[in-house]
Amino acid sequence: MAEQSLVFIKPDGVKRRLMSEVIRRFETRGFEFKRLELRQLSSDEVDAHYQEHVERDFYPRLKEFILSGPILIMILEGDRVVDTVRKMVGPTDALDAEPGTIRGDLALSKGENVIHASDSPESAKREIENFFGSLVH
Ligand code: UDP
Ligand code: MG
Repeated sequence: MAEQSLVFIKPDGVKRRLMSEVIRRFETRGFEFKRLELRQLSSDEVDAHYQEHVERDFYPRLKEFILSGPILIMILEGDRVVDTVRKMVGPTDALDAEPGTIRGDLALSKGENVIHASDSPESAKREIENFFGSLVH
């Protein structure tokens, strides 16, 4: 199966009407959209998604933020999609992100940084199974 990445626009991006801006970047870059869905996550889905962060001091604020409104979830597919999307997204702290990246163009915060993208094909598989129950074709 071709490589896939689980990406979502966080509630700040949806509220700031950045959905079309972010979709456009992935669409024009050439990735295939396998799923595109606006969804309000449950508490358990957030805990499962951020399982490596649940004990961190920032986690309660992160969880409250992710639950604060709907997110736009996408599954993107293409050659080396995981690394390429992470490059397009930029580093976690938007203040460190270069202009031209999504966070570097659209955010100024480490917490409210517009977008999530899988950091490895293994993470993508786990995240896709969490949100969609199984891998998608
Ligand atoms: N986060 C935060 N404070 C931190 C680190 C992370 O609020 O000190 C939030 C931020 O929204 C980030 C998410 O937790 O995007 C997940 O953190 P990770 O280190 O996995 O960053 P990412 O993979 O999103 O760049
Ligand atoms: Mg991460």
